Amino acid sequence: MVSINKHYIDVKSIKKNTGLPDTYFVSKFGFSPYKACQHSCKYCDGRSEKYYVEGDFEKDITIRKNIPDILEQSLKKFREKGIIGISSGVSDPYQPLEHSEKMMIDCAKIISHYKYPAMLFTKSNMVLRDIDLWEEVHKKAGFTLMMSIVYPDDKIRKIFEPYASSVEERLRTLKAFKDRGMSVGVLAMPILPFLTDHPDQLLKMTKQYQEIGVDVVMPGSMTLRPGINKNTYFDVIEKNFPKLLKKYQDLYSENRQSGSPKNYYVNRVHSTFGKIISEHHMPQHIPHRLYKNRMPVYDEIYILMTHMIKIYDHRGVNVDKLVIAKKNYSKWLVDEKKFYNRRRNLSFDELESKVINMIDNNTVMTLFKNEKLLNFFKKVILEQQVFNYVTLKLEKY
Ligand code: SF4
Repeated sequence: MVSINKHYIDVKSIKKNTGLPDTYFVSKFGFSPYKACQHSCKYCDGRSEKYYVEGDFEKDITIRKNIPDILEQSLKKFREKGIIGISSGVSDPYQPLEHSEKMMIDCAKIISHYKYPAMLFTKSNMVLRDIDLWEEVHKKAGFTLMMSIVYPDDKIRKIFEPYASSVEERLRTLKAFKDRGMSVGVLAMPILPFLTDHPDQLLKMTKQYQEIGVDVVMPGSMTLRPGINKNTYFDVIEKNFPKLLKKYQDLYSENRQSGSPKNYYVNRVHSTFGKIISEHHMPQHIPHRLYKNRMPVYDEIYILMTHMIKIYDHRGVNVDKLVIAKKNYSKWLVDEKKFYNRRRNLSFDELESKVINMIDNNTVMTLFKNEKLLNFFKKVILEQQVFNYVTLKLEKY
């Protein structure tokens, strides 16, 4: 492990989304105790100029020392519930210096105390150190562990993710969390072109995920933003796989700001991998059961609609009516949230009740304009409310 320079700073807030929730990771709040990352993944876009990570990305690690205090202050005063996403694109919460800094222990205790659901992203088996704490969070509000695993074995992993946990360690970590009843998912990204994208490799990885019983597999191709991000990766290719360099240069020759390779490749990987994952009966979007009751009903509806559109569209079903329903509903929801955010005497529970009543008495049809959708949400949302009510009664009893 290379020696590092620690930079301690204080932050003023954690990330909070007062508008529509993130539909990809289904989170509403977010924080990361660190900036920059010792795991040193060679494709990491945290190195990009876009993120302004000062110094050497692998050695100059910023430690947000007051994160536990800020987290506690925030959770005390947040007016809405929602999932806390732990991590960021530019750091890993369980990178090696967490051994000594122990920031995540305090954070997990605070999240558990305030009964917030959480979803944590890491490439380290160090998260096992805190498994009891995360189990406590899970019992009170729900917890999901997400790990990125994109190598069928450890040979290539060592080159591209030199200081992250081995494939075997990550699989064992996911299994340990799953065995304790927590939900687990795989970020199957980034798939490395010409190195880990052969259908046989994708199949082997999918079987590994399936053996553990992961709740979701989210595949993704590799982005390389023009600049440090792309140059770092290409240097590694030139050193270790020189014959592939030209192919890579061609694949990323469009120099898109997003870092995406050529479209034909993205489509091919998604279609091949997506098909294999589907054949093994694993969802590719966070399934409803992983955010059900972990956020207000009005946000659940928005996320469900977004996922339905993607899934049906992918299957070739006409989604025009769904798109209109989502557009009407999201516009209405944004305005309502603005109204509730301005009036501090109002509770967001009232907004939740309002949406449930609108479904129950059919007035939501002015937004949905779609009876099938109304009936679907009646089933998904209203039955859930009956379940919540009964559970609450039983708990009190
Ligand atoms: S673990 Fe994540 S943040 Fe850290 S270097 Fe790897 S990709 Fe970047």
